[in-house]
Amino acid sequence: MAHCEAQGPREVRPELAHVLRSHAQDCSPLSNDEARVVKALTACRTAALGGHKQRCDHCGREIPVYNSCRNRHCPKCQSLDQALWVEAQMHDLLPVLYFHEVFTLPPCLIPFFRRDPGIAYALLFEAAAKTVIEVCRSCLGATPGLIAILHTWNQQLGYLPHIHCISTGGGLSLDGTQWIASRPRFFLPVRKLSVVFRGKLLEAFEVALTQDRLRISEAAGRFLLRRAAIQKFVVYSKPPMAGPEQVLRYLGRYTHRIAISNERIVACDNGEVTFRFKNRRHGGRTETRTLGGVEFIRRFLRHVVPRRFVRVRHFGLLANGIKVHRLALARQLLDAPAPPTPSSPQHESWEETYRRLVGKDPLLCPHCHIGHLVVIGDIPRSPSPPRMASPSRSP
Ligand SMILES: [Zn+2]
Ligand SMILES: [Zn+2]
Repeated sequence: MAHCEAQGPREVRPELAHVLRSHAQDCSPLSNDEARVVKALTACRTAALGGHKQRCDHCGREIPVYNSCRNRHCPKCQSLDQALWVEAQMHDLLPVLYFHEVFTLPPCLIPFFRRDPGIAYALLFEAAAKTVIEVCRSCLGATPGLIAILHTWNQQLGYLPHIHCISTGGGLSLDGTQWIASRPRFFLPVRKLSVVFRGKLLEAFEVALTQDRLRISEAAGRFLLRRAAIQKFVVYSKPPMAGPEQVLRYLGRYTHRIAISNERIVACDNGEVTFRFKNRRHGGRTETRTLGGVEFIRRFLRHVVPRRFVRVRHFGLLANGIKVHRLALARQLLDAPAPPTPSSPQHESWEETYRRLVGKDPLLCPHCHIGHLVVIGDIPRSPSPPRMASPSRSP
């Protein structure tokens, strides 16, 4: 269900939707998934999706409020879904340390991902998760719980598939009779993780090639795998997280992120798009980069994941099917209280949920900031969205 959000009287800033409206028609043939994303994002919060006429109960202004697209690639539509998802994870967290590992690829494997993204991403997930589970079992004799998240971009919209893996520091002993914790500042040796990860991922691609599941010839595929076998696979480890609250903050930051936020787009004019990025080579300094509009969109659309592809997955103790039983056992062994009961009342409206989780009032009048918007009529969907005023360069 689409939901509405009040549009404030703000300055028209360049947004991804503006860039798509200006340049998407010049991007040569789009895949069905890409075309669906362009259609949703350009229609989001315009008359194309219909909405409601609303009036402020304080200043009396009438404001059209258009429906949102709720597409998971839309930078304007993530906050509520993200907050709901993060809230749902609270029940699965244990009072233990959590660790964050990032699994990256050598560039020579990218052709597999470009041709068969759905299969390649699934193999990447499995290889990263199985690596953590196997190395944890061999080093600690325990099975951890993992949440794995697929990201495909770097700060400059480059295509760089990688997996963020958030794992319990330690886990259930193999015989299920005790909780074995890792050392407080060290979970698993990254060198070992990277060697095991390389073996698992290359083997998975080889099996897929043999089974003819990939749209790349067997000879070309084997050539890429031979090149990858002599490359270093980088797995890096971020500082541990001290308990569930910090994990939830992390998850909130990583799970519903998309390739670029509107805040990072500085300008869209003269056929070019300028955006901010953090340059890691310069100590994380914020810099700007300008690309042609078509190139910008081409880069953005590379990060569209196949329809219904699940970008966040659970493994180990958190795997579907065994999760409830394993978590109950882990809690018992950790002498930890039962998980918090869901705080969301059963018949909460989306406005109430939004207020509670996002911390903003979605119905507050954007003009007087005192009154609340009350629906006074419907706005039907209009077949073609009005073109927005061309955005100006923001300060
Ligand atoms: Zn008002
Ligand atoms: Zn949207």
